[in-house]
Amino acid sequence: MTSNRDLLERSLSAVWHPCTQMRQHASAVEPLPLVPIASGQGVWLHDFDGRRYLDGISSWWVNLFGHCHPRINAALRSQLDELEHVILAGFTHRPVVELSERLSALAGGVLGHCFYASDGASATEIALKMSFHAWQNRGRTEKQEFLCLAGGYHGETVGALAVTDVALFKDAYAPLIRPAAIVATPDARQAVDGESAIEVAVRAAADLERHLQQHHRRVAALIVEPLIQCASGMAMHDPAYLRLARRLCDQYEVHLICDEIAVGCGRSGSFFAHQQADIRPDFLCLSKGISGGYLPLSIVMTTDAVYADFYHEATSRGFLHSHSYTGNALACRAALATLDIFAEDQVIERNRQLAEYLAGCLQPLAGHPQVRHLRQRGMIAAFDVISDDPLFSRRFYRHALDNEILLRPIGNTVYFMPPYVISQGEIEFLVARASAALEAALHR
Ligand SMILES: *Cc1c(COP(=O)(O)O)cnc(C)c1O
Repeated sequence: MTSNRDLLERSLSAVWHPCTQMRQHASAVEPLPLVPIASGQGVWLHDFDGRRYLDGISSWWVNLFGHCHPRINAALRSQLDELEHVILAGFTHRPVVELSERLSALAGGVLGHCFYASDGASATEIALKMSFHAWQNRGRTEKQEFLCLAGGYHGETVGALAVTDVALFKDAYAPLIRPAAIVATPDARQAVDGESAIEVAVRAAADLERHLQQHHRRVAALIVEPLIQCASGMAMHDPAYLRLARRLCDQYEVHLICDEIAVGCGRSGSFFAHQQADIRPDFLCLSKGISGGYLPLSIVMTTDAVYADFYHEATSRGFLHSHSYTGNALACRAALATLDIFAEDQVIERNRQLAEYLAGCLQPLAGHPQVRHLRQRGMIAAFDVISDDPLFSRRFYRHALDNEILLRPIGNTVYFMPPYVISQGEIEFLVARASAALEAALHR
């Protein structure tokens, strides 16, 4: 019989865990917990000793419909008996074709070409390479630079870090990186003197315009996380920014890359976040939730125009990026099962009610003396905690686990990003326990 203790000790000696200073698992003060999970069901995770945790962050934003969803499980079982994987160069298969067609339809038919990889950072790399190469193929050889937003996050490979502005992830590798230019974020929290979120967006767009006026000839693409900059702390902005950015990108001949790896798949309230601004990106990156949180999968969707820039007899004009597991059949089938659930269960509609319910439950926290900027868009809610305790996030995380919930603050930002199958009762539970963890962390 496996026990928590047994697995925890073996994990600490054999597994190098991500995004973790491993020594902190052994700190004398506020040691970082490590939780062995035996099984998952719906929003619940179960350890080996009979404890449970409500997965309030969808296991790092990937799990849309809970753990061990019967319909996704069944789809994967049937796919296993047909085809697990096949090389996608020179070969094709049903799940990858169907998925490409359905995603293109969901994006309004304007992003008709899907390129596949396994993780979000690779999708970012692919979008950047495609943009650069498309301009090269058009003879615009001076377009070699990228623009990103302050506080943006697009993954942690060396190329993706170039367009990421999170010091914690980037600074240690600065000498390896060819950094992109950073323009102002439209983060609505910057509002001063009664300024509206739209006014903040207009101000940020003016900064983008100043940069483009000077440098547009050398800029290939602007990359943004539409509506919510997640990894830097759930910074939310008005859709007006996206409309202005789209207009400026058109005016100055710069590609617009929408990184919807976190905000796509219904998370922001619409299936794609950019749809709330009624714009069309030149590239759309998807990953995380697209496979329902089952298997690694990422997709870069692009337009006929970009596709045409590569379509030529010359091999060197082609997009030769190759990736061993590209278009994995099992992952694509999990994604198709995920899209089926969206359609059959009217998920976007249902989420609207859930999001409203979550907002109602969180409202009392707005009056908490140490809570600022309670905010929400769709199925993401967040607030900032006023505390000068450098261990606040670790303390909150531990108290949350003690309260049977999984929430991992980003610095002093506590956020909720639950699976869409969460019930109203479970939302009440999540918020009540989060409030208890907040009090415990503040009054250590
Ligand atoms: C998570 C994330 C990525 C990176 O995805 P990985 O699969 O972790 O490499 C890129 N962009 C955004 C917006 C993300 O949230």
